Amino acid sequence: MGSLKIENVKKSFGPVEVLKGIDLDVKDGEFVVFVGPSGCGKSTLLRIIAGLEDASSGDVLIDGQKVTNAPPSKRGIAMVFQTYALYPHLTVRDNMSLGLKQAGTPAAEIDQRIAASSAMLSLEPYLKRRPAELSGGQRQRVAIGRALVREPKLFLFDEPLSNLDAALRVNTRLEIAQLHNRLKSTMIYVTHDQVEAMTLADRIVVLNAGRVEQVGAPMELYNKPANLFVAGFIGSPK
Ligand code: ADP
Ligand code: MG
Repeated sequence: MGSLKIENVKKSFGPVEVLKGIDLDVKDGEFVVFVGPSGCGKSTLLRIIAGLEDASSGDVLIDGQKVTNAPPSKRGIAMVFQTYALYPHLTVRDNMSLGLKQAGTPAAEIDQRIAASSAMLSLEPYLKRRPAELSGGQRQRVAIGRALVREPKLFLFDEPLSNLDAALRVNTRLEIAQLHNRLKSTMIYVTHDQVEAMTLADRIVVLNAGRVEQVGAPMELYNKPANLFVAGFIGSPK
């Protein structure tokens, strides 16, 4: 299970309203991509779903349960950040297991989950290394592995490929797509890259200045953009 409902979520920082009433329904197992220009509120919305930021008003529901005021650890989510956010002093294995240990997961279960996740992401050779001894692509795979071992209902990705070079971007994108095919988990993925959005999404949510411009399947948006903004954003190559 991993459905998500966002009800009239608004967010202001001081006098500036950066989310102006967002409504969205995501089905269990869906891959939904938020796209929009820099500063339109994508990360803020993702952080509100994760519980890393409070909404000014509105509600977030996961599997029908209101989690608006629940801490991140109680939401069944795991997030992958653009900057990987790994602990530099911990090994890959310890980076992956830390959250599980904190949650009181038994050691044998941790071992089993790390074995399965590192096999899925080809991380076995790196488990004893520290992040500084890895390439950018390997670090991002570790960050994905750390999310994976938590077996979340909902995966949140915030521009996970932005710090990778072009070839690695394609590989890592394919790995994320494969992961979704295998796990059938709900994934919410933020990017400002149209190609990532078009290739990964079941549905794309186009955001602009804190509002949803259009929601639809990639080809639906491509063929029938609701307005010039969507047409320009989805239609124009980079
Ligand atoms: P995106 O991820 O789409 O680039 P963000 O969600 O990061 O956009 O930011 C949306 C707007 O909110 C931006 O104008 C940004 O400067 C502002 N903002 C984000 N976080 C904060 C914060 N903690 N304090 C003040 N303003 C913020
Ligand atoms: Mg952002």
